[in-house]
Amino acid sequence: MSYGFSLTPAHLDLVERTHAFARDVIRPVAAHHDQEEEFPWEVLEAAAREGFYNPLFYRDLIGDPTGLSLPLFMEELFWGCAGIGLSIVMPALALSAMAQAATPDQLLRWAPECFGEPGDLKLAALCVSEPEGGSDVRNLRTRARRDGDEWVIDGHKIWIGNGGIANVHVVNATVDPSAGHRGQALFAVPGGTPGLELVRKLSKLGCRASHTAELKFDGCRVPAENLLGGDEKLERRLAEAKRGNGRSSTLGAFEQTRPMVAAQALGVARAALEFACEWAAEREAFGEPILDKQGISFPLAELATDLDAARLLTWRASWMAAQRMEYHHAEGSMSKLRASEVAVRITEQAVQVCGGYGYVRDLPVEKWYRDAKLYTIFEGTSEIQRVVIGRTLVDAAPPLHHRLPTDGPGLGRAFGRGTKTRAVVAGKAMQVAAKTPPSLMKLPMKVITPPQKGG
Ligand SMILES: Cc1cc2nc3c(=O)[nH]c(=O)nc-3n(C[C@H](O)[C@H](O)[C@H](O)COP(=O)(O)OP(=O)(O)OC[C@H]3O[C@@H](n4cnc5c(N)ncnc54)[C@H](O)[C@@H]3O)c2cc1C
Repeated sequence: MSYGFSLTPAHLDLVERTHAFARDVIRPVAAHHDQEEEFPWEVLEAAAREGFYNPLFYRDLIGDPTGLSLPLFMEELFWGCAGIGLSIVMPALALSAMAQAATPDQLLRWAPECFGEPGDLKLAALCVSEPEGGSDVRNLRTRARRDGDEWVIDGHKIWIGNGGIANVHVVNATVDPSAGHRGQALFAVPGGTPGLELVRKLSKLGCRASHTAELKFDGCRVPAENLLGGDEKLERRLAEAKRGNGRSSTLGAFEQTRPMVAAQALGVARAALEFACEWAAEREAFGEPILDKQGISFPLAELATDLDAARLLTWRASWMAAQRMEYHHAEGSMSKLRASEVAVRITEQAVQVCGGYGYVRDLPVEKWYRDAKLYTIFEGTSEIQRVVIGRTLVDAAPPLHHRLPTDGPGLGRAFGRGTKTRAVVAGKAMQVAAKTPPSLMKLPMKVITPPQKGG
């Protein structure tokens, strides 16, 4: 399927439904959950009733071949509030990592555990980062060792969304230290398993409605079947790792989720830009709306342009993921880098445009400013995205448009726009036209003139 921007009626319905949910359910309680740092259970219940909190919903979005459903949904939801949005989609992030590793049977077993159902909601967590290393996955120290029919996990995790309160924790641990980061595997650890301890809930700068925690695994035992992917796959991966091939069990998942996270940042950025523009149109200084001053409108114009550019990068990466195209130029990282950085710049400018009001809690812009900063840090910092993009610069793969799949009619190759045949025919036609009376040229001119807008 070729890359395009036409939205289907289902896309538009998804946007409208999510936007209404963000406007009517999330925004009215966003400031409360931010200030109190209170987990938004009642919003999760409402999301579940609306169909936004179940594994099949996300399966459906990921399965959209245009790639647009996922970023459209994320942008609208996070336009409401990033902290509440994260609480809603955290199980989907954990499930996405799980889906990379798990067998189909394991997915069937654990996916319902990640979400539950209305009235009996469940939570999931993805546990990768550790006090000694978030960016450097080679430095992860949590270990899992086999003991009969069980795996025993020991280690320390930090900044874990839903950590300790989740029904299922997807835990990254090293099973073979000699294989470095390739010797890691993922385990499903149910909440309440002896040896899994919630050390503390972390108090955050932004996204405060979401629960983020520090965890310890101390002799935490899970059945052998909780190794995601199973024994045979692990043995194959370790054998590959010994030959220097393969990759970390979680890096692949991060690549897939980067456009998803980029779209979240777009939602925060758009909320702030819309607010700043409306404020600037209303607020007067020196006898006119401040938006009439180029000192205010020019930065907003730049940022509006950057926001659209970031959205295009995000949609492209998401389309590529849906088409299972490899990110030869780190297109996923490009989308996350640009969207997160523009979100920080836009929210900062929104505070500036709103002046003193922007700095106090009367307006939502200071919250968006705090929320946006997370996006240059988690799911790979901006520096790490640059490292990933930088690495692709040396292998000089051709640009994406040199290898896009084609899905137009075969005849287009011979007679389509820009082909040599058309150029030759056009040249001959010009010669004939020069010798033909204008009255006779009216009909052919009508045929070749591009259609007028609305015509
Ligand atoms: C609110 C929140 C929620 C989170 N949720 C989760 C979660 O659910 N699950 C999870 O596993 N993790 C989660 N994280 C962790 C997050 O992914 C890490 O914080 C992030 O990967 C950075 O790791 P670090 O904090 O250890 O920073 P470090 O890796 O110590 O980096 C510190 C600084 O050095 C820079 N740096 C590091 N290496 C390089 C390099 N090679 N070149 C240039 N600069 C470099 C970094 O960019 C950064 O600026 C969350 C974090 C936060 C704040």
